[in-house]
Amino acid sequence: MIQFQQPGDPVALAVDLVNTWDTLEAQPELLREVSDLRAFLGRHGISGAAGVDGRDLARVRAFREELRSVFAEEDEDRAAMRLNALLERSGAVPQLVPDGDSWALRHAPGPVGPSARLIAEASAVLAEAVSGLGWERLGICSAAPCTCVFVDRSRSGRRRYCCRLCADRAATAAYRARRRGDTV
Ligand SMILES: [Zn+2]
Repeated sequence: MIQFQQPGDPVALAVDLVNTWDTLEAQPELLREVSDLRAFLGRHGISGAAGVDGRDLARVRAFREELRSVFAEEDEDRAAMRLNALLERSGAVPQLVPDGDSWALRHAPGPVGPSARLIAEASAVLAEAVSGLGWERLGICSAAPCTCVFVDRSRSGRRRYCCRLCADRAATAAYRARRRGDTV
């Protein structure tokens, strides 16, 4: 799976989770088994991955659909309402946790399991991105059949594709269409 956001971008957790349903793959479901969820948690530094089971997998997949619906929502107020509902249900309470010599802000209350932490943290980082950048910076890739999502941190705010690969694919398709004399 391609990493879609810049390394170190906190919102990558939410973006990468939504993009574990990847329509460019023969089998779009990238969270097929519990082991896939464990690997995802491990990649994103969420500890305790060994303890997750099939219920966690089902829960994370269902949450992923709700998170995608925030990107797909065409109305800004409704998108905010959806995200607020996710924050509330996930119990995403800001908490200071040790981070080397300093402290980091995380969003999970108390001793909850890794899938609950993933859900709370992914809801929170997306809400932070919306409040910091604006809702219009949430996007869905324009290079069909890809439906991966992204958060546009570019200066111009005109990003249309989830990754370099899709941008290149779209450019090639447009070039071929022009050569055929199609109007693009
Ligand atoms: Zn794409």
